[in-house]
Amino acid sequence: MWITPEAHLPESRPDTLAVHAGRLEIPVNTASSPPLFQASSYEFDDLDEVERVYSGESAGRIYGRYGGPNGAQFESALAELEGAESAAGAAAGMSAIDAALATLLAGGGGLLAGRELYGGTSALVENDYRKAGVRVEYVDQSDLDAVEAALERSRPKVLYVEALTNPLLHVADLPALGRLARGNGARLVVDATFATPVLLRALDHGADLVVHSVGKYLGGHGDVGAGVLAGSADLVEPARAYLVRRGAVIPHFEAWLALRGLRTLALRMERHSANARAVAAFLAGRPEVVAVHHPSLPAHPQHELSARLYPRGTGGMLAFALAGGREAVAGFLGALRTVAVVHSLGEVATTISYPPSASHRYVDPGARASLGVGEGTLRLSTGIEDVRDILDDLSAAFAGLHGRVRATAET
Ligand code: PLP
Repeated sequence: MWITPEAHLPESRPDTLAVHAGRLEIPVNTASSPPLFQASSYEFDDLDEVERVYSGESAGRIYGRYGGPNGAQFESALAELEGAESAAGAAAGMSAIDAALATLLAGGGGLLAGRELYGGTSALVENDYRKAGVRVEYVDQSDLDAVEAALERSRPKVLYVEALTNPLLHVADLPALGRLARGNGARLVVDATFATPVLLRALDHGADLVVHSVGKYLGGHGDVGAGVLAGSADLVEPARAYLVRRGAVIPHFEAWLALRGLRTLALRMERHSANARAVAAFLAGRPEVVAVHHPSLPAHPQHELSARLYPRGTGGMLAFALAGGREAVAGFLGALRTVAVVHSLGEVATTISYPPSASHRYVDPGARASLGVGEGTLRLSTGIEDVRDILDDLSAAFAGLHGRVRATAET
C-alpha cells in the first residue's frame, strides 16, 4: 500500500514538492521486527474518519502526546509479560510512579510506603505529595507486624513497596503484603524495577499495580529513559489519561528500544542472576569485605522467602561493605578497570555505585546508617560478561587496596 496522494504532486512547484514529495510505503506483509513510527501527527481522510478514530471505532492515531504505535506495542508486550489486563508507558519510571500514586490518591487518602524507597520516589513523595496535604508514613516493609499495625492505625489508600530494595536487596513478601493491604482497604503498588516480570510477576503475588523504570533491566542497554505501569484496566486507564494530560507518555523511539530490550530480557536476567550469585559468594570470602547483601546467601534475612518468590534468581543487584569506609571505597573504585562507576543499574555491563555519594546522597548519615547503608557500602549491578572477568577485576581492585594501605602505612 502506498500512502500520500501523489496525483497532485507532478503539477506542484518545487517548494511544495519539497514539503509533500516522497511516498510512504506500508507493506501489506508484516515486518518481522517492529518498524519505528517516529510521527507526531496523523492525517485523516475526512470528518467521518476523525469521528471513527476519536471514538475508538477505528484503531487510528491522532497525535504523539496521546501515544503512538510503538508505545502501544511495548505496552501490550509488557502487559502480557506481567499477566496484566493493561499497561501504560511513561516518559520515565518517575512519571509512571507519579501517575500510579496521583490517580490512586485522587480524592484523598494516605500513603504508607516502605522506608527503603528509591531516592527519587521519596523526593517525589515528600516534595509533591506531603506538601500537597497527603498523609505520608513510612514503615519497614520487611516487618509484617509493623506494616499491619500501620495499616490498621492509619487506613492509608495505598501501600507502596519495592520488590527488591535498593541497595540492600531486602525481599518484599508480596503475598503477605497483598493480603494485609486488601484486608485493610489499601491498594498495593509495587516497584519491581530490580526484579522484572521474568523473575517475578508482582500482580500474581498480590500487587494491584506494578511499576518499572524501563531504562534499567527492561531496556537493558543503558540507552532508554522511560517507565511503565501495569495492572487492571480500571486502575491503568486513569493513569494513562493522567500521563497524556501531563505530556508524559513513553516517546516512540524509547518504546521501540524498550521492546527490543524485552526480546532478550529472559536470557539477560538468567545471566545477571547467575553472575550476581557468583560475585556474592566471592565477596563473602574476601577479608576486606565486612558484609555482603544478596538473597542467595544463607545469612540474608529473606533467603528462604527469595527462594520461594524468585526460583530463577533475583537479577544482578547486590551490595557489600568494605572495611575502611569511604577511604577504602575511593581506593577500590579507582582501581577497577572493567567495572565502571555508573549511577544507574540493570545494564549489560557490570557497574558499581557508592550509595552515600549517589542514591543516598541526600539522606543524612544517621538515617543512612539506620537503613544499613554505611560509609563502606557499595552497590554492584552485575552485568552479563564472563563472570571470571568480573571477579578478576574485583580481585585486582582488592589487591590495589592492599598496595594503597601499605603505601599509606609506609609514608
Ligand atoms: N525505581 C527504581 C527502583 C529506580 O532505581 C529508579 C531509578 O533509578 C526509578 C524507580 C526511577 O526511574 P527513572 O529514572 O526511569 O525515572
